[in-house]
Amino acid sequence: MLNWEDLTTECTNCHKCDLGMNRTNIVIGRGNPDAKLMFIGEGPGEQEDNQGKPFVGAAGKLLDLLLNALMIKEEDYYIANIVKCRPPSNRIPSDGEAEKCLPFLRNQVALIKPKIIVCLGATAMKYIVDRESKISQIRGQWIEKKGCWIMPTFHPAALLRDESKKAAMWEDFVEVRNKLESL
Ligand code: URA
Repeated sequence: MLNWEDLTTECTNCHKCDLGMNRTNIVIGRGNPDAKLMFIGEGPGEQEDNQGKPFVGAAGKLLDLLLNALMIKEEDYYIANIVKCRPPSNRIPSDGEAEKCLPFLRNQVALIKPKIIVCLGATAMKYIVDRESKISQIRGQWIEKKGCWIMPTFHPAALLRDESKKAAMWEDFVEVRNKLESL
């Protein structure tokens, strides 16, 4: 396992897949590396690629609204993605790209040791929980893995496309806040 400094260097120099060829910035993560709560998304979009930080575009703004409403502050969580470089046209990362990038995320999880991981959307759920499940079926249900509570929920970008997911996602976030307070 690498420490934060070496992990950052490895990520910054990484060209294990083609996504690295077109990045403006690598997007490693942001927030508190000692937090109990970790969010995992899919991959950087245009804004994230420009700024080198995850969830700073439209989906991030919506996530901020949810977190503000629940009084969850940036110091309460760490946020990262399945892949650290922007896929062209924001397509879903391929299995090969995800597999090559996942060791970095696993290293981050090992350093942070979160008590709760929230999988934002189908891609995070696929690689963190189960390759076969459907996000609409398993969202909202706690899964315990090695002492860590995992909550799969919708991706905030899905909410931007489909307002009918709002109530379910809110419920899931309330669950997360309550669990966080109980730990
Ligand atoms: N969507 C993601 O999955 N991650 C980001 O960082 C931004 C948008």
